[in-house]
Amino acid sequence: MPDDDRGGNDRADVTPVMSDLSPEHEQLRESVERFAQREVAPVIGGFYEREEFPYEIVAKMGEMGLFGLPIPERYGGMGGDYLALCVALEELARVDSSVAITLEAGVGLGAMPIYRFGTEEQKQRWLPDLCSATILGAFGLTEPGGGSDAGATRTTARLDGDEWVINGTKAFITNSGTAITGIVTVTAVTRRLDGGRPQISAIIVPAGTPGFTVSKTYSKVGWLASDTRELSFDDCRVPAANLLGEVGRGYAQFLQTLDEGRVALAALSVGLAQGCIDESLRYLGEREAFGHKIGEYQVLQFKLADMEARTHTARLAYRDAAQRMLNGRPFKKHAAIAKLVASDAAMLNAREATQIFGGYGFMNESPVGRFYRDAKILEIGEGTSEVQRMLIARELGLRSAL
Ligand SMILES: Cc1cc2nc3c(=O)[nH]c(=O)nc-3n(C[C@H](O)[C@H](O)[C@H](O)COP(=O)(O)OP(=O)(O)OC[C@H]3O[C@@H](n4cnc5c(N)ncnc54)[C@H](O)[C@@H]3O)c2cc1C
Repeated sequence: MPDDDRGGNDRADVTPVMSDLSPEHEQLRESVERFAQREVAPVIGGFYEREEFPYEIVAKMGEMGLFGLPIPERYGGMGGDYLALCVALEELARVDSSVAITLEAGVGLGAMPIYRFGTEEQKQRWLPDLCSATILGAFGLTEPGGGSDAGATRTTARLDGDEWVINGTKAFITNSGTAITGIVTVTAVTRRLDGGRPQISAIIVPAGTPGFTVSKTYSKVGWLASDTRELSFDDCRVPAANLLGEVGRGYAQFLQTLDEGRVALAALSVGLAQGCIDESLRYLGEREAFGHKIGEYQVLQFKLADMEARTHTARLAYRDAAQRMLNGRPFKKHAAIAKLVASDAAMLNAREATQIFGGYGFMNESPVGRFYRDAKILEIGEGTSEVQRMLIARELGLRSAL
């Protein structure tokens, strides 16, 4: 966000501060803001109500290079960094979260594991199409039996000659069943180690592989214009070469993928929180009650003040976590903090914005109605708020009694 706060200092000081973006990131932010306002905002409500995946919008985002933002140019990406992805997510989610989560999952969960851990051949094979959004990628970790305890994976993959044979079910997988879904990377137990501990590996499954089926989309509370499905693997055979990186590295790979993804989801949450402020500010200046604009009532002004304070703090938290990641410093705790405070800010701001809009806030046609429905999942996806607190406590050296 442009920072026009001159309070407390009468010098026009241009020394960079923590929340500033580089000129390149600011340019990206402005272009995604324009796209979101012009191309997404006017039509997305209809897709949401019809629970329809917005293929044309996704194609345009592909043409803009958004799906390849943090991927090097040699693999068809834009050669930017992870903060660039976060900035784009923030701007999209200011307007709509279904489109933003499609991008977040497509890049953070679809392309990034292949870029980080894949063989050169896998990168050459999949990344150019993922970066252009010719195909979408997904990551299947969660199972019907549980997501937080990801080590309890039940899906199995056994090597039979030069093929993996996969059996099991994955639940709630984003981007997994669209007409342009190209691959789903799934975690599976590839053998039992001494003491019965599972060896978990990640395997790339191309869409359309026999034995791999997707359910129809779930009936969800929010993110209605995004694609979420249950996946079944019934003796599904893929080449041995589809193993992502090394055998037995699946657990470590998804932990790293989720650490990064949390920063991205925090940025998306900040966008939703900011969208609530944008809409509320407009409405405070328009709506009248008891002969006054409702923005003249201090009780509502205080709501906006709290919404702004939460959003600003959460933005600093995700940009700090992203910067640590880019500088090669440990960022696990900071990613968890960012996800925790940003999802909290989104949830609270959505509640307050809906209140400010009164009855209109409860109507699906108003963006704040959508924000309200979309906010809750931010406290659940890519690690619940309880899981973030567990991670933070662990980073403080505390050990659980359980
Ligand atoms: C719309 C949507 C999209 C999703 N997209 C994907 C995707 O693309 N890929 C993917 O793999 N997953 C995806 N998920 C799954 C999501 O990541 C999981 O729902 C989430 O991690 C929580 O897992 P769970 O639902 O199994 O809840 P559970 O793990 O069963 O948790 C239930 C409750 O118990 C709490 N809990 C669990 N363990 C502890 C503990 N030790 N201490 C305290 N509290 C605890 C949790 O915080 C939660 O409140 C998606 C989910 C949704 C709804």
